[in-house]
Amino acid sequence: MSRNLYDLIGLAAGICFILALKGLSSPKSARRGNLIGAIGATVATIIVFFYANGGKALNHLPLILTAIGFGVIVGVPAARKVQMTQMPQLVALFNGVGGGAAALVAIVEYLKLGDGATTAEVVATVFTVIVGCVSFSGSVITFLKLQELMTTRPVIFPLGRQVIALTLIGVLASGGWVITSGGSTPLLVNGLLSLLFGILFVLPVGGADVPIVISLLNAFTGLTVAASGYVLQTTLLIVAGTLVGASGTILTRLMAEAMGRSLFGTLFGAFTAKAQASSGAVDTRPVKSGSPDDVAILLNYAQRVVIVPGFGLAVAQAQHTVRELADLLASKGVEVAYGIHPVAGRMPGHMNVLLAEANVPYEQLVEMEEINPTFPQTDVVLVVGANDVVNPAAKTTPGCPIYGMPILDVGQAGNVIFLKRSMRPGFAGIENELLYDAKTTLLFGDAKDSLTKVVSALKAL
Ligand code: NDP
Repeated sequence: MSRNLYDLIGLAAGICFILALKGLSSPKSARRGNLIGAIGATVATIIVFFYANGGKALNHLPLILTAIGFGVIVGVPAARKVQMTQMPQLVALFNGVGGGAAALVAIVEYLKLGDGATTAEVVATVFTVIVGCVSFSGSVITFLKLQELMTTRPVIFPLGRQVIALTLIGVLASGGWVITSGGSTPLLVNGLLSLLFGILFVLPVGGADVPIVISLLNAFTGLTVAASGYVLQTTLLIVAGTLVGASGTILTRLMAEAMGRSLFGTLFGAFTAKAQASSGAVDTRPVKSGSPDDVAILLNYAQRVVIVPGFGLAVAQAQHTVRELADLLASKGVEVAYGIHPVAGRMPGHMNVLLAEANVPYEQLVEMEEINPTFPQTDVVLVVGANDVVNPAAKTTPGCPIYGMPILDVGQAGNVIFLKRSMRPGFAGIENELLYDAKTTLLFGDAKDSLTKVVSALKAL
């Protein structure tokens, strides 16, 4: 293949990535966008076999094919089988592996170039190693937090900020050491300190803020890939990496805004926040629990009902049943809307995707800013497996992990019904005062079972 043809096909793949991002910006075109991106990535992988080595045959072909085969065997079933609720963990893991791989490629290339490396190449290598290692170890910690293999609460330690700052200084100093004196030992030290920094800077992030960090690390991986594209002199990697870096940065900003956070507050807020009062004692205050019949009666006499879906809806896979209930209420003349919080569930757009799967009309999904002023005129709010996104502590308890996050003000409605299985808290691990409010009724049980019973009871009325 000639260089020109290679560049032309590479350009086409780059255009695919841009079109993919455009498609992914709306739920209606997201599938198409994903497909276009996948085609671009496949083309970009295949053309390497025909040109990458300056037109000569590739070295280590069996090893390369084995690695691709291994990736396919592990990646495809993992992506197909993963539950929607576990998607963020998978994204965190794939993202970390991407950052780690880019760092390893840069190290190998650096060792190959030896003394022949230009200063610009060494600087790009150091950048790739630092950001790639931070992205790798940071993503592993976010994976462990999301999979609840470790605590989802902020992990803080004495002199935490100082230790993190010192590690960062070590990372930068060892990076400077690589640039000024070269050699493999400084690069090894630099890589190890960067891995340590990645762990230290994600540990203090509380559960509810993990999505922001995943997005940030994703942007980091993009930048790493772009820098390794510079080391390898591959334009396509620079284009793809820059797109991921830029879109990841925009997403990080949007998510931080949606949760009412600054990025600095997200990463280091735990060190300044007052410790949460968590005595571990079980709250023995009484709550008002109801039966499916009680809930059906409340709904039957309502004029306006707002359904607030959350993570529990996804766990219970109750999206079809919730739609059945909404349709039944609409047929009885009740006005129904869904209140969608930007971080409900476990990934951006999680609730939109779930409800679209059940063919809920898009016009019924109302964003937080729009639905909040309507709660005082709402008779009943049905909170289906949501907790943090309606927790008033975000407004009333400075220092709690979700303080400052805008919430759905469901407490302003006439009645609030929570569908959940127990008194356990949500992802952020904090008590929700609304559960004890006089206007709140709790319907305990799996959301799908409870909704099915409410639908039957409502039909019988
Ligand atoms: P929460 O995790 O706060 O609450 C989920 C609720 O669902 C819990 O009260 C749980 O109670 C209940 N639940 C779980 N399973 C079931 C079931 N089968 N049937 C009925 N209820 C069930 O979810 P929210 O959606 O309110 O908030 C999302 C949280 O996740 C936020 O803190 C957000 O920051 C975080 N997050 C968001 C991401 C995103 O991008 N959207 C990504 C990662 C984290 P019980 O156990 O008693 O049933």
